[in-house]
Amino acid sequence: MTRATALHLAGSLAVTAGSHRLWSHRAYKATWQLKLILMIFQTISFQGSIYRWCRDHRVHHKYTDTDADPHNSRRGAFYSHIGWLMVKRHPQYVEKLKLIDMSDLKNDPLLKFQIRYYFPLLFSLCFLLPTIIPWYFWNETLQNAWFICVCFRYIFTFQVTCLVNSWAHIWGTQPYDTRSSGRETFFTSALTFGEGWHNFHHTFPWDYRASELSGLLVNPTMMLLKLFAKIGWAYDLKKVSVEVIKKRINRTGDGSHPTAIWSWGDYEQSDDNKSSVKIEYKKQRRLQQ
Ligand SMILES: [Zn+2]
Ligand SMILES: [Zn+2]
Repeated sequence: MTRATALHLAGSLAVTAGSHRLWSHRAYKATWQLKLILMIFQTISFQGSIYRWCRDHRVHHKYTDTDADPHNSRRGAFYSHIGWLMVKRHPQYVEKLKLIDMSDLKNDPLLKFQIRYYFPLLFSLCFLLPTIIPWYFWNETLQNAWFICVCFRYIFTFQVTCLVNSWAHIWGTQPYDTRSSGRETFFTSALTFGEGWHNFHHTFPWDYRASELSGLLVNPTMMLLKLFAKIGWAYDLKKVSVEVIKKRINRTGDGSHPTAIWSWGDYEQSDDNKSSVKIEYKKQRRLQQ
């Protein structure tokens, strides 16, 4: 079980830090060593090639909750969770896919290598080695190694990732932008290593933190990236400013953010915000008329 948990951690983090924040959103840059590690563990997670994963994810962000969105949450929780993988893609998705720029990933030699050797890599890294290694080195039975380290681990990692497409688009708060169906939930964040702060993420998709929150429990992916940044393997980490976040909260948020301005004169209201307000029907002017 410990080995299955370790593989789940590594596979999930490679999806969140690699497929998602690095390759889909270009939220930071990475050296070849980090890219290689992420590619290996992303293959172990068995969620398709990085290229395909990112292509779907870019369409999802660009056309959220339309027919072009591969896991359109307006079609229900089951569809957005896993149902979308069981049916033919919507013609709108096929149409809009052509508009998504994938040139950066198309020319990445590591991703080209993964696509070219995807099936041998998948077979050895995701199925063969996790069965053979525990059996040979740690005296596990072949049955235990196969069912726990491969089958159970894969199903669990996959289901947890799917929660970001379903739960994180249906239930939770929208403190940054009510126009985005992305929601903030502790439940999905804790399970997905920080990917459940989805309203923030859809509002600022290029922020490497994918949330304002940090800490091992709420955003382990961010902590991992900080660790890699310290040794120089992750660099140029992009982060939105506090000022921009505050403005956005007050302009388009649902008021659930702890720093949301609840009324005129709130201590969080900046002078800039105050001076930009237009006041109509001023008392003095009305008396003069
Ligand atoms: Zn989303
Ligand atoms: Zn994203």
